[in-house]
Amino acid sequence: MHYVTFLDDRSQKIGRARRKIKISLRGYDYKTWVPADLSHIALPVYMIAYSPCPKLRDIYLEVVQGLPRQPTWERYKGRLIDSVYKLVHRKCESYLSSCNVRNFDIYTHLINEEQAILDEAKNRFSSELAAISPPPSPTKIASLDEQLRKVVGFESSLIASLMNFQIAKVRAANPMRIFRQYFDFNIDLALTAPHQGIRGDATPDFIYRHKVIGDIKSGKWEEFFEQTIVAYALAYEEHTGENMDYGVILHVEFTNRRVPSHHRTKIDILDDAKRKRYLLLRERKFAVIESGNDPGMPNSQALCDPGCSFLSTCWGGSG
Ligand code: SF4
Repeated sequence: MHYVTFLDDRSQKIGRARRKIKISLRGYDYKTWVPADLSHIALPVYMIAYSPCPKLRDIYLEVVQGLPRQPTWERYKGRLIDSVYKLVHRKCESYLSSCNVRNFDIYTHLINEEQAILDEAKNRFSSELAAISPPPSPTKIASLDEQLRKVVGFESSLIASLMNFQIAKVRAANPMRIFRQYFDFNIDLALTAPHQGIRGDATPDFIYRHKVIGDIKSGKWEEFFEQTIVAYALAYEEHTGENMDYGVILHVEFTNRRVPSHHRTKIDILDDAKRKRYLLLRERKFAVIESGNDPGMPNSQALCDPGCSFLSTCWGGSG
C-alpha cells in the first residue's frame, strides 16, 4: 500500500488532470442515481462490480434464487493480503506513538512483528478458510504464508527507507509527523451511498491524500477491478458531496522474486468513460433482478470465470 506514495512521488500526476469530469457523472448528481422505480434494489459493491458471468446469471442465482455464494480460496487469499497491508500500516502508527527520533528503527520493529501480523490476519478469516470446499492443501497454505511475508518485508523496507531519508534530511525530525505526511492513508472508510444502489457501507481499502481512492487486488488482472474503484468513487462523492477524481488499484502479484510485483499499478483519472461503463453495468444487473427472469447460460463453460462460485450449480461440476 505504501508503494502508492512512491508512485505518486514519481508520477506527480495528482491534480494535473486535463480532462474535466462531467458533473452529471458525479456520485452526488441525481443522474448517476438508481432510477426511482428500481430504488428498492441495493447490492454490495462487489456484487455490482464483479461480473464472472457473461450473461449475469450469477446475479440471478444469488439475488433472485437466493443461492449463497460459496467461499473460494481466491477470495480468502485476497482478504488476507488486504488485511496484511493494513496491519502493517496500523503497526507503524502504534510504534510511532511511542518512539522518538533517537530510538527510531521502524524496519526492525516491523520485521519483528511479522509473525504477529500474519497470525492476526489469519485469525480474522479463519472461519472463511474452514468453509472452503475442498479445503486447500498444506502446500497452498504454506505458499500463501510466504507471499504474505514478502508483503511485510517489502512494505517495511519501503516505509523505513523513505522515513530514514526524511529524518536524515532535517535537523529536527518528528517520525510521526513524517509518517502522516508521506503515508497519508485513511484505511477506515465506511461510505453510505443509498442513491448509488449500494447496500450497507462501501469500504474501499484506502484513500490516499484525500484525493485518490484505492483498492488492493491480487491474482490475475480483471476488468472488474476498474468497476470496483469507480463504484467507490461514486459512493465517496454521494457520501461527502466532494469530487473524487483519481483511483488506484494496488495490484499484487507474486513471482519467484523476493518482492511482490506491482507492475500494473498506476494512479488513474476516473474519467467519464469509466463512469459510464460502470453505470451501464449497474443498470444491466438491476434489470436482471427486476425482471426476475433467468438470463440463461453461455454456450460453453469456457466463457465462465473459473472463479465463479456457481460453477457446480450451473454445470454440475462436469463442465
Ligand atoms: S457458472 Fe458460468 S453460467 Fe453460471 S453464473 Fe457462473 S459464469 Fe454464469
